[in-house]
Amino acid sequence: MDCLFCAISRGEIPSKKVYEDELVYGFYDIDPQAPTHFLVIPKAHIESAGAVTAENSAVVAHCFEVIAKVTKELGITDFRVVSNCGEQAGQSVKHLHFHVLAGRDMTWPPG
Ligand code: 5GP
Ligand code: ZN
Repeated sequence: MDCLFCAISRGEIPSKKVYEDELVYGFYDIDPQAPTHFLVIPKAHIESAGAVTAENSAVVAHCFEVIAKVTKELGITDFRVVSNCGEQAGQSVKHLHFHVLAGRDMTWPPG
């Protein structure tokens, strides 16, 4: 399978790492949309939020644990977590990822 984020999580494509353990990889977005913008991904390939099942959902909870830990370490209290699912919603990489955006005012509803 040819997946950009699988390759990034294995270190085959360089990235600016913010967190790593055996289940999860975190790295700064190459095209930041806020002063702080990083991505948290499961190392296991899951296509999107729409492909989460009872069998693979534990890593999703772990992603959120990591998001809380990393934001705390970076001194960030206010942030937005986004996961785009499907092309109409703006998903361009078909490997589940959580955007963490911080450092500016956010608008609602999102565009
Ligand atoms: P999506 O558009 O699927 O919600 O989010 C994909 C994100 O991955 C985008 O924000 C994009 O900037 C980021 N991205 C795409 N390719 C790379 C890459 O090679 N390295 C890094 N660090 N981020 C990437
Ligand atoms: Zn993948």
